[in-house]
Amino acid sequence: MTAPNQAESLLRRPVMSLWGVGAERARLLERLRIHTVEDLLLHKPRRYEDRRRFLAIRELQPGQPACVRGIVVASGVKRWKKGARAMFECVLEDSTARLHCRWWQAFPWMEEYFAVGREFVVFGKLESLRPRIVDHPETELVEAGEENLVHLNRIAPIYPLTEGLPQRWLRGLIWRSVDQLMTGGSFPEWNALDERLRFARTEAASLPGRSNAVTMLHFPEEFEDIEIARRRLALDEFVDLQVHMQQRRKLFESRSKALPCGGDNNRLMKPFLQVLGFKLTASQANVLREIRHDLRGEHPMRRLLQGDVGSGKTAVAACSALMALECGFNVALMAPTEILAEQHHRNFSRWFESLGVRVELRTGSTRAALAHGSRSLEEVKPLLVIGTHALVSSGFEIQKLGLVIIDEQHKFGVAQREQLVRKGHYPHLLVMTATPIPRTLGLTLYGDLDVSTIDAAPPGRGKIKTFVRTTDTLPKVWSFIREKLAAGRQAYVVYPRVEENQGNEVKAVMKEFEVLKRQLAPYSVAMLHGRMKAAEKEGVMAEFRANRVHVLLATSLIEVGVDVPNATVMLIENAEQFGLAQLHQLRGRIGRGVHDSHCILVSAAGNIEARERLQVLEATRDGFQIAEADLKLRGPGELLGKDQSGVPAFRFGNLAQDLELISFAREIARGR
Ligand code: ADP
Ligand code: MG
Repeated sequence: MTAPNQAESLLRRPVMSLWGVGAERARLLERLRIHTVEDLLLHKPRRYEDRRRFLAIRELQPGQPACVRGIVVASGVKRWKKGARAMFECVLEDSTARLHCRWWQAFPWMEEYFAVGREFVVFGKLESLRPRIVDHPETELVEAGEENLVHLNRIAPIYPLTEGLPQRWLRGLIWRSVDQLMTGGSFPEWNALDERLRFARTEAASLPGRSNAVTMLHFPEEFEDIEIARRRLALDEFVDLQVHMQQRRKLFESRSKALPCGGDNNRLMKPFLQVLGFKLTASQANVLREIRHDLRGEHPMRRLLQGDVGSGKTAVAACSALMALECGFNVALMAPTEILAEQHHRNFSRWFESLGVRVELRTGSTRAALAHGSRSLEEVKPLLVIGTHALVSSGFEIQKLGLVIIDEQHKFGVAQREQLVRKGHYPHLLVMTATPIPRTLGLTLYGDLDVSTIDAAPPGRGKIKTFVRTTDTLPKVWSFIREKLAAGRQAYVVYPRVEENQGNEVKAVMKEFEVLKRQLAPYSVAMLHGRMKAAEKEGVMAEFRANRVHVLLATSLIEVGVDVPNATVMLIENAEQFGLAQLHQLRGRIGRGVHDSHCILVSAAGNIEARERLQVLEATRDGFQIAEADLKLRGPGELLGKDQSGVPAFRFGNLAQDLELISFAREIARGR
């Protein structure tokens, strides 16, 4: 029996401390990120082979991966014809037939390794039946006198390897470790993880203990064991993460005292709501109550405001800002694109300047213009600074920063968010997102934030109808758009980025632009793409807002935030190149006025699978449903944007599949 504290250190010990691991092998293991004994025990097989019963070579079916076992009857270098590249062939035989294994590259060691008389386990796919050929199979030498219990007669794990590290050796090492360590006593660290689950009321409680899960992962009795083991180990990862986030939050709260930003008798709010031009919806008002409660609280607010595209988050942001401004604090608002920052700047200036609030814009292109001159008395007025990421990258300071608002937060990394927060002394934080992420996933990504949701759109909106069409129907689509233009509406035509290479992007959009002008003459068409200067972009947007430009051809640049209610038609070309959540965002640019809107998703005729995917958008406008579909289809990276640097990498957890486990984890972490 191993003494408890000895066992504790075992997991953390370097792999070199294990019998049979020398410096050379330890170095190779390090390449697989195996440093400690625990790393080794958690090294996940990449697949499994059922070696309980081998297929007879005669039973092999072309095209189906399978596992057989045979003795080498011939082997050597061969050439197709004179002068052709050398290949290596090894002929195996069992009691039923012969199998030709071929490698298209011959290495000097092969001759000796595949010596006649040796026995091999071979995994591969039959290329042809007569003769039976397998190209580049995975092979494993069956060594005489070996523990066949480990490598044969079982479901055998096949591990990721690195050059110079034999599969059998690693499997043997893991077998011994699992066997000795598991029977030699238990690990206090792992027991503690088991202990956490004892309080789970859910199915989580019936999952195996961690030691058992590790055994099942490497040496499952049945194939079903593998998934059970994975779920158990994934659950531990999710609970760790939740616990970590809760601790971080506690630490944050213990350090920070909130600035009093809860408003001053609606001094600014009241006149603002009068000029706003609409009444807040019940949903917006609810969210504002939660925010006001936070802004008056003891600890700085950390709140995520989630609301589908067009749900009216900007007005909520404005009201929140006013609460802080009423209290004499300044506010920063960060948006992901210049177009959006400028749109906010225009709206907030219109709303706030009559209230005696200064509204300033800081983007990549305005930053230089704003000299840090001497502060006149005028500037004692409360200040709202609006900007892009230039807000964090530039060295400027914001005095008395009470509230930080981040719009379209999924476009930023967690790091940028925190950088902006650091410009002040524990300011309140409100982050807004329209990317409807499934709740449980949100809990993992934003576990350190409280969540408010605007769950109903403002009233008086026209309907949005969505159609999936193939390119051959484009002529009809053009005449439909012309009809709408004739009725006074405006349209977006979205063209996906063709390649990352920006020169090509411009070329492709230019070509499309020419086509569009021809199709839609005499209506005026303008173009918006990433290579244009900020002033040019803003000029085009101004013309579009003024309805002097009727059709806007854009790359996915307009995906976020842009608000032009008279634009009611959106045509998205090569729609299959976008994720569903992104298309949903794009579609959110229309349906913002009283008129009915139409979204046409065009994809190539041949791509039936893509069209089926797009039909999800035809069927629903529920952002959460769409997000869940997207998550299943494309995985979390796509849904969350490239910059979610806060997303942890899991060894066993899978964000796309494990929503249920994530919510167990949340419950367990809370219940401790
Ligand atoms: P998002 O949540 O996508 O940021 P916006 O804040 O841009 O949405 O709002 C979308 C549109 O809805 C804007 O034109 C805005 O003026 C309008 N809006 C917001 N709240 C209301 C409301 N309570 N009643 C009517 N219209 C509203
Ligand atoms: Mg918005």
